[in-house]
Amino acid sequence: MADYPFPDPIVDTSAAHEVARDLVVIPSQDVDLVPNIGLIGGSQAVLVVDTGLGPRNAEQVLKFATEYAAGRRLYLTTTHFHPEHAFGAQAFAGEATYLVNSAQATDLSAKGDGYLAMFRQLGTAVARELDGVELPTANLVYDDTHELDLGGRVVQLRPTGRAHSRGDQIVTVADASVMFTGDLVETGQFAIFPWFPPHDTDVSGVRWIKVMEHLTASNPAIVVPGHGSVGDARLLVDVRDYLTELRDETWVRRDSALPVETIAEEVRALMISRHPDWRLPEWIDRGVGCLCSEY
Ligand SMILES: [Zn+2]
Repeated sequence: MADYPFPDPIVDTSAAHEVARDLVVIPSQDVDLVPNIGLIGGSQAVLVVDTGLGPRNAEQVLKFATEYAAGRRLYLTTTHFHPEHAFGAQAFAGEATYLVNSAQATDLSAKGDGYLAMFRQLGTAVARELDGVELPTANLVYDDTHELDLGGRVVQLRPTGRAHSRGDQIVTVADASVMFTGDLVETGQFAIFPWFPPHDTDVSGVRWIKVMEHLTASNPAIVVPGHGSVGDARLLVDVRDYLTELRDETWVRRDSALPVETIAEEVRALMISRHPDWRLPEWIDRGVGCLCSEY
């Protein structure tokens, strides 16, 4: 198997820091396949948002959460089904109540095995973390918005409908004006389009733009993206604007009936010139492929 060319995807709980009262982020620190992980506290319970890749990362998150909770009950939710966000949930079994939206539960059962196989091919360091993964099953599944009372603090778990995946949900903490977006938003990198035809074509650039317009309108003070630094509502605007320009630049070339490869080449060069500091430009091509299919 190929050597994994990036730092090992290991969650570093020592970097955890409070971003609001009783609300902690274990940051991704720009390590690929490490997500931002949240802990949201109330007087009675603590909600953990996302697990890290595989059971050993999740065990470290659980250990940190148990100490942080200091006797409070634990809940777990995941922003969407992708492996670094949800494929550690088994470590929380018996320790936390795991809640997800129904579309995400469907993603997990329909596509979990395929993503496990795909991610194992990324390199030995990734395969090692996925060793022993059991695809998670939630304790509680809901269709619409779910309000979770942590004691003196109500957290809202809201499915957005199909965007980065079929089952994305955002987590908002109204009293602190904090929003966890999962991979609907990343800081300092091109939007992740998991466009892998014919295996997975659920990502929708068109719906994603609509979702971002909606999220932008709610104007949260603190935005915790799926990966990259914590920021404010500007992150939402940046993603909305990027997706819109990606759509427009793709479709104007589609109007001229250019082949997808040529469109991808031209749009990639243009986007890199407009966002010279952003990481992972390889996602631009997949975004173009997705948007061509939605033309
Ligand atoms: Zn994702």
